[in-house]
Amino acid sequence: MNTITLPSQRSYRIVDHAYDVIVVGAGGSGLRATLGMGAAGLKTACITKVFPTRSHTTAAQGGIAASLGNMAEDHWQWHMYDTIKGSDWLGDQDAIEYLCREAVPAVYELEHMGVPFTRTEDGRIYQRPFGGHMRDFGKEPVQRACAAADRTGHAILHTLYQQSLKHDVEFFIEYFAIDLIMDDKGACKGVMAWCLDDGTMHRFRANLVVLATGGYGRAFQSCTSAHTCTGDGNAMAMRAGIPTQDMEFVQFHPTGIFPAGCLLTEGCRGEGGYLTNSEGERFMERYAPHAKDLASRDVVSRAMIVEINEGRGCGPNKDHIMLHLEHLGADILHERLPSIVETSKVFAGIDVTKDPVPVLPTVHYNMGGIPTNIHAEVIRPTKENPDATVPGLMAVGEAACVSVHGANRLGTNSLLDLIVFGRAAALRAKEIVKPNSHIAPLPEKAGEDAIARLDALRYAKGNTRVAQMRDSLQRTMQRHAAVFRNNENLKGGVEKIEKLWPELADISVADESLIWNTDLMEALEFENLLANATVTMVSAEARKESRGAHAHDDYEERDDKDWLKHTVSFLNNKGEVSLSYRPVHMNTLTDEVQTFPPKKRVY
Ligand SMILES: Cc1cc2nc3c(=O)[nH]c(=O)nc-3n(C[C@H](O)[C@H](O)[C@H](O)COP(=O)(O)OP(=O)(O)OC[C@H]3O[C@@H](n4cnc5c(N)ncnc54)[C@H](O)[C@@H]3O)c2cc1C
Repeated sequence: MNTITLPSQRSYRIVDHAYDVIVVGAGGSGLRATLGMGAAGLKTACITKVFPTRSHTTAAQGGIAASLGNMAEDHWQWHMYDTIKGSDWLGDQDAIEYLCREAVPAVYELEHMGVPFTRTEDGRIYQRPFGGHMRDFGKEPVQRACAAADRTGHAILHTLYQQSLKHDVEFFIEYFAIDLIMDDKGACKGVMAWCLDDGTMHRFRANLVVLATGGYGRAFQSCTSAHTCTGDGNAMAMRAGIPTQDMEFVQFHPTGIFPAGCLLTEGCRGEGGYLTNSEGERFMERYAPHAKDLASRDVVSRAMIVEINEGRGCGPNKDHIMLHLEHLGADILHERLPSIVETSKVFAGIDVTKDPVPVLPTVHYNMGGIPTNIHAEVIRPTKENPDATVPGLMAVGEAACVSVHGANRLGTNSLLDLIVFGRAAALRAKEIVKPNSHIAPLPEKAGEDAIARLDALRYAKGNTRVAQMRDSLQRTMQRHAAVFRNNENLKGGVEKIEKLWPELADISVADESLIWNTDLMEALEFENLLANATVTMVSAEARKESRGAHAHDDYEERDDKDWLKHTVSFLNNKGEVSLSYRPVHMNTLTDEVQTFPPKKRVY
């Protein structure tokens, strides 16, 4: 066993491992990649900080998009148009073409793997309407979201985990990945991880590392995401000199339960639910005359906040909106939305078969992440080549920004993203890594920086508890990077976040003698949240237009002349951000497929 001795003279014993491929994360994207790589005969390890089936994917309720056409005519080009329009033209059109075209075989593949989809009378996969999914290039709503009741993510995640166990894949469960191991040419060579069970340090070397670590919803005070969604992979990439992209675009879901924040799926409105203000008015008819309650999420969230700001919020404090499901009848609710009935009972004390439930827009999804191409290879743009890739590194799922969601993701397109690009990563890995090929040994000191960072936190003896620091970060994000933004508010947000970096020196972590130290893990997660929050706020402050989820009061219009471009943000270890921009791909993969030039986005 190797030992690394730090300048502090403390020594850490290192357990070394070698694999063809290492996947960090066992949510839908990580498991789909792991499964495909195992099936390709690659020696594959999957590292995850929680048990695979506890990943946030398990919480996905509403469905996965694919133009199967089981309920009415549908085409993948319609789905492509909706996704581009939903993205407010910031999504890369070639990547969106790939996503929507591959959606149909991807969902059939899930069906054949055993996902227990809800069925129509004639035995086909049941599909429900969802926000922004329309027929005939935006005309009327279409039923495109393939659903397993309101537990679609749970069904998919369990199926993928069971399938991956069929292959010779090794899982490292409750291992916390700390940092990437990079060589001096900027290629990724492996990853350092801390075993939460016994405190041992592990050094994984591999020909390919895949980051599948999910989003960073927990940077905000009120979000629908699991406590594990702390953007660890994004922060690991940024510490390794790799940028993140389009981080200013944070999706607020219209229907988080008020005030708990738990999600009530958009499938509620897909099944016929609707929103009302304090006057009992179905106000969405004013904001989106065609799609109404099924307009895109950014549109519905903004409408709700406007209603509240103009004094038509519900309740004694006029601070929320009502979601009605009671008219659908108890039978339909118990069959199609059983978890919603239960969640509303537990978290709002409301029987949705009888009464409306209070809701408020809540942070839900990160459109931004580590930039990749459609083969999941990570991009680090250079002056000469905006699409230059990082050798040995891939990213998939919510941690990645392909970009198929642009400035606003359509509901049910994330589960699809996980499956399509998880598979694409495996296909590419099969091309570039040969099974059991040579895995170059690492320098003796490889991983020392990661251990030093953990060690510094473990022995940190400042005065501010991790929870306190996290709380002030979350409050800042909630106030300054909200549904509506403006110059002054964003500037204030940047200043507050900048002040948090020097405060890191004052962090206090509970006694180091505890082997399983949750406080230490939360300190690592806090550093990651802070990294994500910093680039989010700085990128938002810089973007002087309104596009998708970035609604700017001082620049109310979308500005394609100056801002039809991806934000690329680099972060250094002092918390300083440098921004650059790269072009949006307005081309398709094949000449036969039409492109969709920008136009006004109305629903
Ligand atoms: C409540 C809710 C409902 C949703 N409903 C839908 C829906 O109906 N349809 C849809 O399309 N989308 C939906 N979404 C979005 C979608 O579910 C997520 O975007 C998606 O599941 C993210 O999957 P992922 O594989 O990227 O990451 P996750 O599922 O979040 O998994 C991340 C994995 O990374 C691991 N990990 C993270 N950090 C580390 C580390 N440092 N070391 C080791 N392992 C680490 C974790 O252990 C975990 O296994 C919903 C999201 C939420 C929050």
